[in-house]
Amino acid sequence: MSRNTRENQFADCIEKLRWYLWGLRQGGIRLLERAPRKNLEEGCPVNPAAALDPEEELSKLRGELAGCSRCGLHCGRSNLVFGEGSARSGLVFVGEGPGADEDRLGRPFVGRAGKLLDKMIFAIGLERADVYICNVVKCRPPENRVPQPGEVGACLPFLLRQIEVLRPKVICALGLSAAQALLKTTEPISRLRGTVRSLQGIPLVCTYHPAYLLRSPSQKAAAWQDLKEVMNLLGASRP
Ligand code: SF4
Repeated sequence: MSRNTRENQFADCIEKLRWYLWGLRQGGIRLLERAPRKNLEEGCPVNPAAALDPEEELSKLRGELAGCSRCGLHCGRSNLVFGEGSARSGLVFVGEGPGADEDRLGRPFVGRAGKLLDKMIFAIGLERADVYICNVVKCRPPENRVPQPGEVGACLPFLLRQIEVLRPKVICALGLSAAQALLKTTEPISRLRGTVRSLQGIPLVCTYHPAYLLRSPSQKAAAWQDLKEVMNLLGASRP
């Protein structure tokens, strides 16, 4: 391996660590306990997150968010939409934020866009219950507007902690807002699609939001290409 490659990998690693610590700090975590470096019996590195019970950790996180008023979106919500699905899923879908139906029911992707997402999940050979679905912001933006940077900044740490607990094999960002928030970028969706990115070392595929696909059905073929990439990554990560 060349020196440049090693330096790039090291810089990438430091950037991920910095970003991860920033997320923890935003979530109110100030102190980290030192974890053992090796599982001596098996001789492999220990992943502290893997030792946690994901259902229990998600339940704790949900409890922390109950009654949240960290940003102005709490004013208009009927229900906070935390996320749902398999806590041991290999695949997590992340959307922008709840709409009217989601706000009413407290569940993600249950309206027309949700029906299309169900079909997209089915198309890759899975059921909705097999995956985990959540959003960048957990409360509905008024008139379904795009969440503002301050709102994303207030809520993103909780999404990052969800992902840290879930440790999926693949993340699929649905739409521009989710992709930009997760990748901390302002790149357009045309550039974000078509290349596998990485978040916390997990492959991340960006695709169109199902609500956009309902308005622009001609883009479904492109979204299918993205889903095929998700399938490839899921297949490639199987032992
Ligand atoms: S959007 Fe997130 S940060 Fe804002 S009030 Fe709702 S749960 Fe809290």
